[in-house]
Amino acid sequence: MTDKISSDPSCADPFDPGSISLFAALDRIEQRVVPVHACERLPLRECLNRVNNEAVTSPHNIPPLPNSAMDGFAVAIDSLEQNGVTELEEIGTAYAGHPFSGSCARGQCVRIMTGALIPEGTDAVIMQEQAETSDAGNIRIDFDHRVGENIRQAGEDVKQGETVIEAGVRLSPADLGVLASLGLGQLQVKRKPVVAFFSTGDELVAVGEPLEPGKIYDSNRYSLHGMLSLLPVDIIDLGVVRDDLESMREVLTRASTQADLIISTGGVSVGEADYIKPALAELGTTEFWKIAIKPGRPLTFGQIGASIFMGLPGNPVAVMVTFSQFVVPAIEVLSGARLRRPALFRARSLEAMRKKPGRYEFQRGIATLDENDRWQVAKTGKQGSGILTSMSRANCFIVLPDDNAGVEAGDEVSIQFFNWSN
Ligand code: AMP
Ligand code: MG
Repeated sequence: MTDKISSDPSCADPFDPGSISLFAALDRIEQRVVPVHACERLPLRECLNRVNNEAVTSPHNIPPLPNSAMDGFAVAIDSLEQNGVTELEEIGTAYAGHPFSGSCARGQCVRIMTGALIPEGTDAVIMQEQAETSDAGNIRIDFDHRVGENIRQAGEDVKQGETVIEAGVRLSPADLGVLASLGLGQLQVKRKPVVAFFSTGDELVAVGEPLEPGKIYDSNRYSLHGMLSLLPVDIIDLGVVRDDLESMREVLTRASTQADLIISTGGVSVGEADYIKPALAELGTTEFWKIAIKPGRPLTFGQIGASIFMGLPGNPVAVMVTFSQFVVPAIEVLSGARLRRPALFRARSLEAMRKKPGRYEFQRGIATLDENDRWQVAKTGKQGSGILTSMSRANCFIVLPDDNAGVEAGDEVSIQFFNWSN
């Protein structure tokens, strides 16, 4: 008996026909969450990871004028021999930022550097490795070159009037570079959503305080704070809330005046000390979902005033699973960003996994590359929803879809990398 408990420490979480699917829950989140409306104009560097408010069109061509992609010699192709070597007189040099001001006639060429404008009268750049200097100081070039060779054409990156970044895009480092290449120093982005969070439970003790019998340290507020800190949101930590209706009312009322999204952990089951539901029923609208996933089955979703409320389960692993699967997309919608589904990779399972069909499971895995550079994955040992080291040792979720009825060693499975692991 003792053996059984220590080897299988989580609750049974039996298949529940009253629950909704992962995708149904995601659809409802997408439908209910309203994107923030307000915007701010920020210097370009501060726009990283922020959501672009309006499509940006280019005021000009990039590059603005044709220029050289190589160090070499600018020539006119029709002045070259069809079938042999041509000797050309070098009449000057074009540098990046310092164009050659003359014009190139038949029998002549211009020494040119990468990024320099293409001189008048030329239509190709011959790489310097393909040219020789004759004893007389002329430039010798072989045949078989073509018009446009090694020339970056005007507008080949971006055409004037073209949309370069759509509205709703979360701005990447490359986007900032593209915007800078258009000469834009500022951009209008959506304001950051404000996210407030708290833990619930009379058993919880803050780190640094002594642990009396029956108490545990509050870990959820730390993992939540960590996950939120990686997202472009402003965070309010509301601490630990005791298991009574009045405290719950008080914190929810306060949070709803401060935050776009309120997240709690614990107290969402139907135990006698679970006060999230009654408090929310008084203050706002509630939907209580049992989602067909493991871990993380119970989730409360609702609204208090203009704030969205998401009541996550209490178990530390379930908190991280439901955050990654439901809170992250809710924050994406709230931010005004287009929703992207998390990327799944295929990996070979190094071990068998037991699984009942009818729900999605998020086991914690360590993915590594095999000798053929293909992903392989193993579980991080015990998978109970209270075993938080199963998350900290992992770098990915092993995602077993609802129709999966178990995995044999060697089977292919889907993995989803944590966005904080590398
Ligand atoms: P609950 O849903 O409130 O019944 O919590 C489920 C389980 O998660 C219980 O064993 C709690 O002690 C545990 N738990 C709840 N909140 C936290 C927290 N903030 N940190 C660590 N464990 C927690
Ligand atoms: Mg509790």
